[in-house]
Amino acid sequence: MNRADEVPLIAEQLKLSRQPSGEPEIFHSLQGEGHSVGTPTVFLRLALCNLTCSWCDTKYTWDWANFDPKKEILSLSLEAIEERILSYDCPHLVITGGEPMMQQDALAPLALSLKDKGFYIEVETNGTLAPNAEMNSAVSQWNVSPKLANSGVASDRREVPDALTAFAEIETAYFKFVMAQPQDVNEVLTLVDRYAIPPQQVILMPQGTTRKAIEEGSQWMTDLCTKHGFRFSTRMHILLWGDKRGR
Ligand code: SF4
Repeated sequence: MNRADEVPLIAEQLKLSRQPSGEPEIFHSLQGEGHSVGTPTVFLRLALCNLTCSWCDTKYTWDWANFDPKKEILSLSLEAIEERILSYDCPHLVITGGEPMMQQDALAPLALSLKDKGFYIEVETNGTLAPNAEMNSAVSQWNVSPKLANSGVASDRREVPDALTAFAEIETAYFKFVMAQPQDVNEVLTLVDRYAIPPQQVILMPQGTTRKAIEEGSQWMTDLCTKHGFRFSTRMHILLWGDKRGR
């Protein structure tokens, strides 16, 4: 049902990542990782992040020592963003980044409008910023990816108890952990225990941006998943297309 007139878009703008072509990073592909892997999806990549993971594969959204924000960021109205999303005729949206929740106040009206048009909305987040009520009602699935020590980020920046507690209470939140080595599972188990995260909501995924790294990580990770009752996710987009933007 189209009830867009009941959820008017305000004249807000969002900061989006910009593709090398200069176009906003809104594209149509398959969800490459996590609970919905393989689902035809429209991706909306927002700029900015509040963390600085050493292995981040989207540093162009936040690393202004190495990227030029004038080239990498584009501001676009909610109306223009929604028009582009609707043009793909695919009612499954993944909002990713960077860290999308940094812009959640401006993002919520867009998410609510798309929800009212029948969209299933996933948000990829590092789990450091708790959702407001509007975002929580609009989002169908949270893909929360708390960062571990392997990210190189200080623990007090990557683990925000209030935010993780809030996400752990949402039934449709999945917790996806990027694993660099088998012993990382000890940190995962500590967080699962500390925030009472149901094991079936936990997903382990190998860190890496090459086919070789993903395949090697997958070998030892599947045993850990079986042992602890966690899910496993590959990084399908890396296996299919490599570390390519806009796929
Ligand atoms: S939280 Fe995500 S986007 Fe931000 S630095 Fe870490 S990996 Fe990159």
